[in-house]
Amino acid sequence: MTVLITGASAGIGEACARAFAARGADLVLAARRLDRLEGLAAELKAAHGIRATAVYLDVADRSSASTLLERAGHPSIDVLVNNAGLARGLEPLQDNAADDWDEMIDANVKGLLWVTQPVVRQMIARGTPAHIVNMGSLAGIAAYPNGAVYCATKAAVKAISDGLRQDVHRHPIRVTLIQPGMVETDFSRVRFRGDEARAAGVYRGIEPLKAVDIAEAVVYAVSAPAHVQVTELTVTATHQANAFTVYKKPTE
Ligand code: NAP
Repeated sequence: MTVLITGASAGIGEACARAFAARGADLVLAARRLDRLEGLAAELKAAHGIRATAVYLDVADRSSASTLLERAGHPSIDVLVNNAGLARGLEPLQDNAADDWDEMIDANVKGLLWVTQPVVRQMIARGTPAHIVNMGSLAGIAAYPNGAVYCATKAAVKAISDGLRQDVHRHPIRVTLIQPGMVETDFSRVRFRGDEARAAGVYRGIEPLKAVDIAEAVVYAVSAPAHVQVTELTVTATHQANAFTVYKKPTE
């Protein structure tokens, strides 16, 4: 089995790479930080005896995203994990920088489409069981204040997943949407452009999910028997009831 993971250089994507490698899957790892991908590929090859290829990908750049398969040497992809994505800023829409909207929409929505289309075409042509896993978010279920555009991109990921599932349902291709709640990764550091204190504040007083928790949810969906399609999985920290309701222990 060969698994293509976008955004494999950190966080949830890296954890997915580790989880699939531990189960003997070959990997194609894609993101912009090629040095990190190469280090991870070398580590996982040595530890698990798998094949792992690192490929540069700027998912927000159409030519980079749509040529990913060619540039990776036309591997046969059994599982695509569309994980690359980001949030920028947390302000009312009227105060947002429009450049941040472009970055989120290009990476989270258009980039996912650009990567997916050639992979789906290859999966249909091959006709063997295949799986597409899209990284949505709790933010795609209900928008929260100050996050309208990020939430919109993740609502789009849900709509794309629902539409694609119908478009490929005659083929042996499963489509799974994963909707994580708060996961402690670099996500908030990226959102707040390196403001460590603000990023740490997001997780203070709560035990958030770890990247590995989401990776295990992805592996669960992919490991189900071929006739079983996990359409959606929403996973939150125990103290997170929904996007708005989080119990945080008081801290000093
Ligand atoms: P992260 O630690 O910041 O990792 C983000 C990954 O996406 C990195 O590997 C990054 O790689 C990649 N990426 C970002 N922009 C990219 C671009 N233009 N081209 C290629 N790769 C790009 O954050 P994470 O929490 O693991 O996020 C992974 C996914 O989970 C995202 O789609 C996010 O929206 C979703 N999610 C996260 C949370 C959470 O609380 N953390 C909750 C729900 C959903 P490079 O920078 O090397 O390119």
